[in-house]
Amino acid sequence: MGLYLIFMGVQGAGKGMQAAQISESHQIPHVSTGDLFRAMRTREDELAQRVQQIMAEGRLIDDDTTNEVVADRLSQPDAQDGVILDGYPRNIPQAEFLANFLEKKDETVNAVLLLELDHYVAFKRAFGRVKASDSDETYNIYYNNEGVTYHYDDDPSGTYPPRLVALKDGVELQRRPDDANAAAVIKRIDTYIEATQPLIEYYDAKGIVQRVNADQSIEAVRSDIESIIDAVK
Ligand code: AMP
Repeated sequence: MGLYLIFMGVQGAGKGMQAAQISESHQIPHVSTGDLFRAMRTREDELAQRVQQIMAEGRLIDDDTTNEVVADRLSQPDAQDGVILDGYPRNIPQAEFLANFLEKKDETVNAVLLLELDHYVAFKRAFGRVKASDSDETYNIYYNNEGVTYHYDDDPSGTYPPRLVALKDGVELQRRPDDANAAAVIKRIDTYIEATQPLIEYYDAKGIVQRVNADQSIEAVRSDIESIIDAVK
């Protein structure tokens, strides 16, 4: 029997990073549908073209295409003993497709690791994230803020909300455009609540949801995940 794990969590819960680490330590492929779709950018076949067009329009890829890509990835030789899924399934039809796909191989989803994070903390992790312009050093105005100061500049025309300006030792720090806009950060959290809540209930009914407190250090979250995987194995 293989080991099929789903990592779920609001943006900022650290699921991509944890999935990558567990993938390495347990030698199980990390299958992120977002990464798979992004990797198709260089391909010119019909499926890849269709995906690029949908992503370029900022929409979710349709379930049939998403399921096709996942089925293809799960059929690769390296995925025969299981995978860590990240970003998939995102809704009940995808979850049902996955269940049917695995059933045909006499496999099943062994556990859903739900990285739980208070949504206000998730907001602060994204909205507060800042980066040095001349290095990869990252900070957060709320959590990792030694030497970091910030203030709000009013828009001179009064058209836009005040802009957050963060400085490290007097030098201005950069923010990712999608994090800089508080409304966009909230929208992503809202989308997660809308799309994922029904999935949690779906998997809870099967008794396979394992909850992890994501509001801890990276090492503590990892250690909790390792204990769950040991118990599931
Ligand atoms: P992510 O990196 O998981 O945020 O995904 C990036 C983009 O890929 C999303 O905005 C969607 O367009 C697409 N995508 C990733 N996973 C899925 C999925 N399970 N269903 C539909 N679209 C997806």
